[in-house]
Amino acid sequence: MKSQDIRATFLNFFKSKQHDIVSSAPMVLKNDPTLMFTNSGMAPFKEFFLGNAVPKNNRISDSQKCLRVSGKHNDLEEVGYDTYHHTMFEMLGNWSFGDYFKKEAIAWAWELLTEVYKIDKDILYVTVFEGSDDKDNLSLDTEAYDYWKELISEDRILKGNKKDNFWEMGEQGPCGPCSEIHVDIRSAEEKAAVDGKTLVNMDHPQVVEIWNLVFMQYNRKANGTLEDLPAKHIDTGLGFERLCMVLQGVTSNYDTDVFKPLIREIKTIAATTYGKDEKTDIAIRVIIDHVRAVAFSIADGQLPSNTGAGYVIRRILRRAIRYGFTFLDQKEPFMYRLVDVLSAQMGEAFPELASQKQLIENVIKEEENSFLRTLDNGLVLLDKVIETTKGTIISGSKTFELYDTYGFPLDLTQLIAREKGFTVDENEFSSEMEQQKNRSRAASASETGDWIVLLKDKEEFIGYDHLEATIQLTRYRKVVSKKDGERYQLVFNKTPFYPEGGGQVGDKGYLEVPNGDVVYILDTKKENNVIIHFSKNLPKHLTENLKAVVDQKQRHRTECNHTATHLLHQALREILGTHVEQKGSAVHSKYLRFDFSHFSKVTAEQLQEVEDFVNRRIAGNLPLEEQRDMAMKQAIDEGAVALFGEKYGDTVRAIRFGQSMELCGGTHVKSTGDIWHFKIKYEGAVASGIRRIEAITNDAVKDFYHDNNTAVFEIKKLLNNTKEPVKAVQSLQDENTALKNTLNSC
Ligand code: ATP
Ligand code: MG
Repeated sequence: MKSQDIRATFLNFFKSKQHDIVSSAPMVLKNDPTLMFTNSGMAPFKEFFLGNAVPKNNRISDSQKCLRVSGKHNDLEEVGYDTYHHTMFEMLGNWSFGDYFKKEAIAWAWELLTEVYKIDKDILYVTVFEGSDDKDNLSLDTEAYDYWKELISEDRILKGNKKDNFWEMGEQGPCGPCSEIHVDIRSAEEKAAVDGKTLVNMDHPQVVEIWNLVFMQYNRKANGTLEDLPAKHIDTGLGFERLCMVLQGVTSNYDTDVFKPLIREIKTIAATTYGKDEKTDIAIRVIIDHVRAVAFSIADGQLPSNTGAGYVIRRILRRAIRYGFTFLDQKEPFMYRLVDVLSAQMGEAFPELASQKQLIENVIKEEENSFLRTLDNGLVLLDKVIETTKGTIISGSKTFELYDTYGFPLDLTQLIAREKGFTVDENEFSSEMEQQKNRSRAASASETGDWIVLLKDKEEFIGYDHLEATIQLTRYRKVVSKKDGERYQLVFNKTPFYPEGGGQVGDKGYLEVPNGDVVYILDTKKENNVIIHFSKNLPKHLTENLKAVVDQKQRHRTECNHTATHLLHQALREILGTHVEQKGSAVHSKYLRFDFSHFSKVTAEQLQEVEDFVNRRIAGNLPLEEQRDMAMKQAIDEGAVALFGEKYGDTVRAIRFGQSMELCGGTHVKSTGDIWHFKIKYEGAVASGIRRIEAITNDAVKDFYHDNNTAVFEIKKLLNNTKEPVKAVQSLQDENTALKNTLNSC
């Protein structure tokens, strides 16, 4: 069975069990403060599990792009060394949100594996949670055990501890026992020699977990205790590449058709072989694994950079480049050449790869070029450091120097050190890093209390139509952080405050309490689909009606910049071409910033054309045409611009000003005339193939012209009120040069 068919069979199976099939959510997350990348199939559905939103169908199935390189799930060190952990992989999953539970989840998993895929029952083992006698005091998951007993002989049901068989979303939130399904794909002789049972969960490369069925039945509270969830959920994750390995009868994920074309390509590029030398093989596996992770991230809009998710991507890429350099003798950029094969192979299932191929190639090549410039010297320095190290611990400050001067991420130095039997003094490295504060943005430790629920009402956003409203507090919690001190997070039954999103900043404003007190709203953000308002204090009487007032001036200026951003986007696609894609956007009250893909310089004439284009549409006073619940398909058919790496639902909000049409959740002016004027202040490159424009509108333009005017006036005054200041300055300069020359010749 080809991998494409394996994926399709999975989805079709769950479709036949009344599941909605949805496409993968982005792998790079934008609005989740607790997570940088999607690291499991359930991450995009967190809001449903937390009860913050209600899914249209309570059965969903999909194949989700996942990345496990940081935080709770970090498989980076395994990748390449073993044959079944990847950084980026696909997780097939089926979900029940308060619908079916253990019985169906277990029966269907079994049916799919043994009857549809026809996997031999004798190579399967399952596990159930054995219970725990710690503070949670949980007993054996007999419910799951009994369902399994009907399907598989009892000597193949193994009991597992909390580490393997109890799943938690985080410190707080939904959790519950799980059942894993493992395969034993060893040869008959090996099986005869060692009982497969003893190898389950023992990191054996041919006795591996393929599917995890999580039964969410508890909620972990902030104080650490468990309570029953009102509605129980199913969350399952089946590793696609591992499933392909089993169904294609091979013993390594890399021998499946998911990876083979990439291996073939790297063998050609590096003129090497696969399967003959362990070091070469590891390098090849690392490289083709990492190129997938990096390419998919770039397609999702995340470019390599020096902070946050961008730095994670840069680290992965540099790690792969070093493997190529050291073990495959690649001294020139080579990884970008794999993108073609990757996109040919995965582009159908993931169109974002195919359509952004050129950008992905450019970005990777540029990164390779810049790292290769310092890699050689860095490696020489590291060799010297290792030579002169007494003992086996490499100094943290030398490691920091490598990081700072040669761009060696810590984990790369650690990796090379390990290859030679050394470790790195991580504490010293960290303290050096700490000293260079601007780089290390260590997440400011914060303590989050439980939500105090006052009202069960759902929350409604009314900020498109209202800037003031009478509202009620439905819940709040206290957050204490080093950075901000004590803050409250407030949630209301309805809110006019726009939460930060789609590049647009969150609203500020205040709440008026009946006794005349005022609570200032410092910022508004969305977290797992809940709009959270930040304040320093609470209203005295929590259950009274409150008058919410949005800071109108700031909102209006922000709207001018947001609408101008759409017009700018349209102008760039008209003038530079439709290859222009939005790659980042920041809409503030004072300015707007827009990053976009474009592969050459933008000339001064083009820039002027862009500015004129936008200003003509402002002068045309085009009205806002907004459609709130448009079917996604219809919007795309009508030419709406959608962004890669954004998560859209079935229905979308479409924003039109004349011929500009975008899917957008932000707020806009009523008609373009409100913007008054648009002025580009900066244009330049951010990365290879990515350019940035910064611009201003409205009052900011007035201030800009006013300041310029004043400056010209002052200059004229200094030049005896000349009518032609440019000429006057020119002649002053000429005179100055002449005087200098005379002086020099004296
Ligand atoms: P393992 O113990 O093998 O690392 P896990 O317990 O971390 O697996 P889960 O978090 O339960 O795995 O994820 C569900 C499924 O996703 C696994 O059963 C496996 O098939 C797949 N999977 C998990 N991590 C990876 C990875 N790094 N690469 C490929 N597939 C993975
Ligand atoms: Mg794991």
